[in-house]
Amino acid sequence: MLAVSDLNVRYGKVEAIYKASINVDRGTIVSVIGPNGAGKTTLLNAIMGVLPSQGGIEFCGANIGRLTTEQRVAKGMCLVPESRELFAQMSVADNLELGAFTRYRRGDKGIKQSLDEVYELFPRLLERRTQLAGSLSGGERQMLALGRALMSKPTLLMLDEPSLGLAPLIVKEILHNISNLRSTGVSILLIEQNARAALQISDYGYVLENGDIAMEGLSKELANDPKVIESYLGMG
Ligand code: ATP
Repeated sequence: MLAVSDLNVRYGKVEAIYKASINVDRGTIVSVIGPNGAGKTTLLNAIMGVLPSQGGIEFCGANIGRLTTEQRVAKGMCLVPESRELFAQMSVADNLELGAFTRYRRGDKGIKQSLDEVYELFPRLLERRTQLAGSLSGGERQMLALGRALMSKPTLLMLDEPSLGLAPLIVKEILHNISNLRSTGVSILLIEQNARAALQISDYGYVLENGDIAMEGLSKELANDPKVIESYLGMG
């Protein structure tokens, strides 16, 4: 579904991503783990077309390297940024409806159906649908960011550090939610500093270090690899 090959991204003279190749197969969860500053956010922004890059980016068999971000979104790609970017002064329900605007016209029956699907995945959002987004807890905000992204019915969902800033118990819940998204058929590219959690819910993983893909493999195998354990999983 997504095939990134030999991707290079530079900030001026600084090479932030060097010859990175990544594949996401349909219906799978793929994680990219790596330390702070490794280039994880840069990689997602380049795939989304927010940053210029060199190399190949294919989506559903078509070369999308020259498309604008809007055109990539129209093809079914969706990015949930680290900042989540919710509208704090709007209700949960209105934030969700905004997520559908690239796909539906106002009043379209599809919006209601998508909303019902999101509420089924995230019952907490249904309970809080009239509440202002700004008053939600960190975990609920992340649920809302995920729900809003799903409203555009993406085929590829890219998540930038969904566990960032959340308490361990909430991280578990969010990752469980993400794992459940598999049932909707969406493919997921998950960027995480929380390597243990990311490897637990993904099928395949890449380790990004200094803009380079240093290792890749089945997540189960990476989680048992001594180098990964030593560098990213800590003790135990
Ligand atoms: P973090 O988890 O801290 O966000 P990351 O793995 O997502 O890290 P990036 O944010 O992609 O890493 O940054 C990769 C490298 O590119 C870093 O060395 C960073 O300092 C540099 N960089 C990021 N944005 C810019 C920019 N706008 N201009 C110049 N250098 C940048």
